[in-house]
Amino acid sequence: TDVTEQKQAEEQLRYHALLLENVSDAVISADMDFIVQSWNKAAEEIYGWTAVEAMGKSYQELLRHDSVHPTRDELIQIFSGSGDYESEVIHQHKDGALINIMISINAINDNKGNPVGVVTVNRDITDRIKTLQALRKSEIEYRNLVDNALVGVFKTNLEGQILYVNQAMVNLGEFESTEELMAEDVIARYRHPEQREQFLELIQHQGHVANFEFEIVTKKNRYKHVLMNASIDGEILSGMILDITDMKQAEEVLRLTLQELERSNEELEQFAYVASHDLQEPLRMVTNFLQLLEQRYKGELDADADEFIAFAVDGATRMQRMITDLLEYSRVGSRGEAFVPLDCEAVFDEVCDNLKISLEDNKVTITHDPLPQVLGDETQLSQLFQNLIGNAIKFRSDRAPEIHVGAVQEDGTWVFSVQDNGIGIDPEFADRIFVIFQRLHPDGAYPGSGIGLSISKRIAERHGGRIWVESKPGAGSTFFFTIPVEHVDGKTES
Ligand code: ADP
Repeated sequence: TDVTEQKQAEEQLRYHALLLENVSDAVISADMDFIVQSWNKAAEEIYGWTAVEAMGKSYQELLRHDSVHPTRDELIQIFSGSGDYESEVIHQHKDGALINIMISINAINDNKGNPVGVVTVNRDITDRIKTLQALRKSEIEYRNLVDNALVGVFKTNLEGQILYVNQAMVNLGEFESTEELMAEDVIARYRHPEQREQFLELIQHQGHVANFEFEIVTKKNRYKHVLMNASIDGEILSGMILDITDMKQAEEVLRLTLQELERSNEELEQFAYVASHDLQEPLRMVTNFLQLLEQRYKGELDADADEFIAFAVDGATRMQRMITDLLEYSRVGSRGEAFVPLDCEAVFDEVCDNLKISLEDNKVTITHDPLPQVLGDETQLSQLFQNLIGNAIKFRSDRAPEIHVGAVQEDGTWVFSVQDNGIGIDPEFADRIFVIFQRLHPDGAYPGSGIGLSISKRIAERHGGRIWVESKPGAGSTFFFTIPVEHVDGKTES
C-alpha cells in the first residue's frame, strides 16, 4: 500500500507541475520574506529571469516593483483576515521594460494553519491596460470633437430626459449652461409637441431619422427651425441638430422676391401688351387720316406742306410697326404655348422651307449637325431658328453665304449654334444687339426694326436657356443659344 500511496502522490505532483508550467500567469512561491522558492515557465517569460536565476533571490530584486509588497506582519494580518491580497502594480522585466501586473498573494499554511510562505499569481495586464488607455484617449478625442462641433449634439432617453448635450446645443437653445439645459424636458422644447410624437414614431419604426425638420422654442422664447439626424439604441436616442433658421428666412425672402418679380414681370408684360394693343387703334386713325390728307391735298398746298405730311406719314408708319413689334415681343411670355417634345431636325426643315426664296436668291449653302429632340414651344423655337438664319442671310458679306447650324451637349444642356460668314459684329456691341430696337446700321441699310434678337433672347430664356454671340467684324458671326437636355421621363435638367 505504501508504494501505491507514494505512486499516487508522485502522480499528483507531476500533474501539478504540468499545470504550473502551462498556465499563462506567473506562479511564484516564496517564503514569508518574499525569497523565491519556485518560479514557473510563465514567470520566466513575463520577467525574463530563468527559474535557476530567480531561485533564492528576493522579489524586490527580481521584480523591482514600484509598490512595496506587504511585510511579513502585514501578510499574517491579511491572511488571518480576508485571506487574499490582490492589487494592480507595475513591475520590471529583466531588461528594464515596465509591465502592468495584477498580483494576487495567497498564503501557504503549515499543518497547524499558520502561514509559512506565499504563492503569488502575477498576471501580465500590460496589453489590456494599453488597450484601455487607447480607448480612453480616443474617447477623449471624440468628446473634444463633439464638444467643439458647430452642430448641436444630444443624447436623451425615450421619456425626453436629456443625458448629454454639447455646447452648440446649449447655444442653439439659448441656455446659459449645459446644466441648465440638462434640467430641461426635451418635449417642452418642441414648438409643436405632435412633431415629437411623429419623430418618435419614425425613429422607433426605422431605427434612425435623417433631415427631420421641426421647430424648437429657445429659452428666450424664440422659435428656431432645425434639422435633425438621430438614431436609437435601446432606450437611448442620440443625434445632431442643425440650426437652419437663417437659411429658412433667406429662403422665404427669396421666395417672396421671386413671387414679386414674377408678379411685376407679369404686370409689365400686361402693360406692354395693353399699351401696344390699345395704341394701335388711335395710331391707325392718325395714319389713315394723314394718308387721306396726303391723297387729297398733295400739290394743292405749298411744297413745305407736302413734305411735312410725308414726314408725318412716315413717322406714323414706323410707329405702327414698332407697336406691332412690341406686341409681338410681349406675347413671347404671355401667349407662349405649353412645351412638347420637338424634333429640331423637323423644326430646321420647316424654317428652311419658310426661307426657301431667300436661301435660293442668295445662293446660300446651309449645313447642319444632327439636331436633337428637345422640350419646347414649336412656334417659338422655329421663330428663334428663323430669326438667326434670317439674320445670317441678311447680314451676308460679298462672299456666298455659308451657314452651319450646330448642336453639342454640354453639362446637361444643348448648345445650339448658327454660324455664318457674313459681315460680323464688333464685340463691343455683342450685348447691345439683344436689346429691343437696337440696330448697328443706319435705317435703310438693312431691312428690319431691331426686334428679332430681343425676341430670340426672350424665347431662349423662356426655354430655360440663354443666348449670346461670338463674332469679329469681317470674320462672320456665331450665335449660340442653350436649351436644357430633355430626359426620357419628360423632365428637364435645370
Ligand atoms: P434686325 O435684324 O431687325 O436689325 P435683330 O434684333 O435681329 O434686328 O438684330 C439686331 C442687330 O444685330 C442687327 O441690326 C445687326 O446689326 C446685328 N446682327 C444680327 N445678326 C447678325 C449677323 N448674323 N451678322 C451680323 N450682324 C448681325
